[in-house]
Amino acid sequence: MPHAITVLEQLVAFDTTSSESNLALIEYVEGYLAELGVSAERVMSPCGTKANLIARVGPDAPGGVMLSGHTDVVPVAGQPWSSDPFTLRDGGDGRLYGRGTCDMKGFIACVLAMVPKWVEAPLQQPIYLGFSYDEEIGCVGAPSLIKRFYEHYSTTAHVIVGEPTSMQPVVAQKGATNLRTTVIGREAHSSQVNQGTSAIHVAARLVTFIEDTMAALVEEGRVDEAFNVPHTSLHVGKINGGTAINIMARECQFEWEIRHLPTDTFDEIYARFKAYCEQLSVELQAKGKHVDITTEPLNVTVPGLADRDNDQVLRLAKDHLPAACCNHAVAYATEAGQFQGQGLQTIILGPGSIAQAHQPDEYIDIEQLKACEDFLAKMGKALEKHACVG
Ligand SMILES: [Zn+2]
Repeated sequence: MPHAITVLEQLVAFDTTSSESNLALIEYVEGYLAELGVSAERVMSPCGTKANLIARVGPDAPGGVMLSGHTDVVPVAGQPWSSDPFTLRDGGDGRLYGRGTCDMKGFIACVLAMVPKWVEAPLQQPIYLGFSYDEEIGCVGAPSLIKRFYEHYSTTAHVIVGEPTSMQPVVAQKGATNLRTTVIGREAHSSQVNQGTSAIHVAARLVTFIEDTMAALVEEGRVDEAFNVPHTSLHVGKINGGTAINIMARECQFEWEIRHLPTDTFDEIYARFKAYCEQLSVELQAKGKHVDITTEPLNVTVPGLADRDNDQVLRLAKDHLPAACCNHAVAYATEAGQFQGQGLQTIILGPGSIAQAHQPDEYIDIEQLKACEDFLAKMGKALEKHACVG
C-alpha cells in the first residue's frame, strides 16, 4: 500500500488536465515499467502532443486481462480547493486529496504498484495495461488504443475499466453525445414580426421538442430500472441568442446532450430531432418565413456499455471481490462501451466513488486503494492458470 501511495503522489503531480499534454506522465510510467523490465508502446494522438500507452506483463498468451485507465483529469479552474490540487495531501482522515486521486489516477497507481509482483509471478496469462488520453473530453483517445490493442496484442483479453465504482462491478453504462444546434432566422424590427423569423422562438420550440422527446421515450416504455435515471435523458445545458429586445433574433445557438440507454441508439433518437427540424422549416416556409437549422456533434458518440457478453470477466471480478456484490449500472460515460464495441468482454470496476470525481478537494479513501490492491493481487493469482479460451 505505501508503494501505491508513492506512485499516486507522482501521478497527481503531473498536471494532465485534458487541455494539457500528458507526455510527461507517460514518460514517467514508461520509466517506471522499464526499471521492471516491462516495455511499453505509445499510441500517439494525431497532433503528437499526447499519447496512449500499452504494456504487457506476463506471457504473450491467450486470455488475460486488460486494465484500462485514462490519464487525463478535469480542470481545477474556478473550484475552491483547500490545497494545491496537484500535490497529494494526506488529510489524516483516511483520505488522500488531489486532482485525479479518485478519477482515476488512484486505480492507475494501484495497477503500477502491483507490477513488481506480477513480473515475479508465474503468470500463464498476460496482464495488459492500457492508459489513454482525452477521456474527459469525450473518450477521444481510447479508440486508437483499442484498435492497436485488438490488432497487435489480444482479441481474447477481458477488460476492466478502473473508473471509480467503489470497487463494485458495473456492467452497464449510458452512451453520450454532445451537440450544438445553430438556428439562423431573419432579423427585423420587433414591431414588424411579420417581416422576420426569430431564431430564438424557433430554438425555443426545438428545446421544448428535446424535452418532449425524453418524455415520449418513457411513454414508449423504453425504461431500464437498473439505471438511476431509468431512461435516456436529453438535456439542453447552454443557450445563447439575440441582440436586443426590439430586434427579432437572427441567430440562436444551444448546446445539448443525449445520454442514451445502451438499448437505445443515438442515431434513432437524433433522427427524431432531425425530422422535427425539417417539419418546422417546412411549416415556417409555408408562412413565408425562412429558417436554417444546423446541428454539429461536439464529440464522437461515446457508446453505452450493455449488460451482455460479460460472464467471464464478471466471474473473474466477483470471485476475487470480498462481499457478494450485485451488478450495477451507471449514467456517466466511460471507455467501457468502446472496448465492448471491439468485441471484448468488459466491465467497469475501480476504487473511489464517482461522487468525489470532478469535485474540488477530490479525494480517495485509502481503504479503497487497499481494496483495489487486494483485488488486483487475487486476480493476478488467478492468471497463474492457463486461459480457457474458445
Ligand atoms: Zn474518469
